[in-house]
Amino acid sequence: MYEKEYLMLPGPTPVPPRVLRALSEPLMNHRGPSFKVLIEEVTEGVKYVYQTKNDVLILPSSGTGGMEAAIVNFLSPGDKVLALSIGAFGDRFATIAQTYGCIVDKVDFEWGTAVDMNLVKEKLDADKKQEYKAILITHNETSTGVCNDLQALSKIRGDHPALILVDSVSGLGVMDVKTDEWGIDVIVTAAQKGFMIPPGVCFVSVSPRAWAAYEQSKCPKFYWDLGSAKKFLEKGQTPVTPALPQLTGLREALKIFTEKGLDYVFAKQLYLRDITRAGARALGLKLLADDSCASAAVTAVWAPEGFEAKAINKKMREEYNVVLAGGQKKLENKIFRIGHLGYVQHLDILATIGALEMTLKELGAPVELGQGVKAAQEVIMSRKGLL
Ligand code: PLP
Repeated sequence: MYEKEYLMLPGPTPVPPRVLRALSEPLMNHRGPSFKVLIEEVTEGVKYVYQTKNDVLILPSSGTGGMEAAIVNFLSPGDKVLALSIGAFGDRFATIAQTYGCIVDKVDFEWGTAVDMNLVKEKLDADKKQEYKAILITHNETSTGVCNDLQALSKIRGDHPALILVDSVSGLGVMDVKTDEWGIDVIVTAAQKGFMIPPGVCFVSVSPRAWAAYEQSKCPKFYWDLGSAKKFLEKGQTPVTPALPQLTGLREALKIFTEKGLDYVFAKQLYLRDITRAGARALGLKLLADDSCASAAVTAVWAPEGFEAKAINKKMREEYNVVLAGGQKKLENKIFRIGHLGYVQHLDILATIGALEMTLKELGAPVELGQGVKAAQEVIMSRKGLL
């Protein structure tokens, strides 16, 4: 494609040019000294973003592989788990646990809302025999644009021995996650979202409590065996051939995090979210998530009454080169999703809102040109000095 494309997806996200260059560094011997330096450096960098001293293992896989690793390393067939689902990825986590023979007590919350922590408290209080071995939760539910409160979950867990296993594939590196301070046992994330590198690696953090559970776990594992990954990491290696380009890219991406600092990154993501929400609302569009739980990574927008979300996305892509995500499962063709995480700037959102106005107008929706852009500009200008 010759024209510039706006990749406004909640993953994969655009890759900064300096990271693209690092992706094409020459390959190296993954059993040699340069790799040892590389893997140790990126592991430390990822720990910085996780805000943890726990082990973090880097696996050659997309995010779902990390979710599977979170199940097979710490649970056994027959273990009871509490799965909290607010969307498609919460469902996926529960399904993986089921696949490995766990007894899944799944609680579904309305799509577009966050986990009701009072209900979780009731569940844990009722579990007098402390049978739940783990609580599964999606940090940022990408299918709905809703963020769950991990800190609140950790408080509610209190002394209950259940591990907290988190899918933060689209949350880590975008929103503040204090792994150690909040006592989160296992957090999974992946390359192609907040970390701004192409898909192909995922990360899994493991608390000491989770390692104790690993010793008891009877789920079959070989490729996903985190104990093996830890042993290899201790000698500066990985059990299998690593995704070398992703790791040199990651080294560069992590430099951006340290140069900018986490506070900057998280504040910027909230800023981009607020620009998006203001622009969409000013066009009279309804948002799926309310402000209390709105994701800083992705905004889900209802197509206006009588309009198909797929038609909006098609026109945006074909006529304006703006690539948006669609709705998943029961939200298919009802919503469209604007990703605003990673290497995205305020003016990318302004362009997206501008294209959205024209698209809706041309499709015959009752919008006035300039309204969304103006609201977005106002948010941009109001916070310019903050970043
Ligand atoms: N969990 C969440 C919250 C996601 O957003 C995604 C991908 O979009 C996944 C899991 C699955 O990750 P992958 O497609 O990298 O396997």
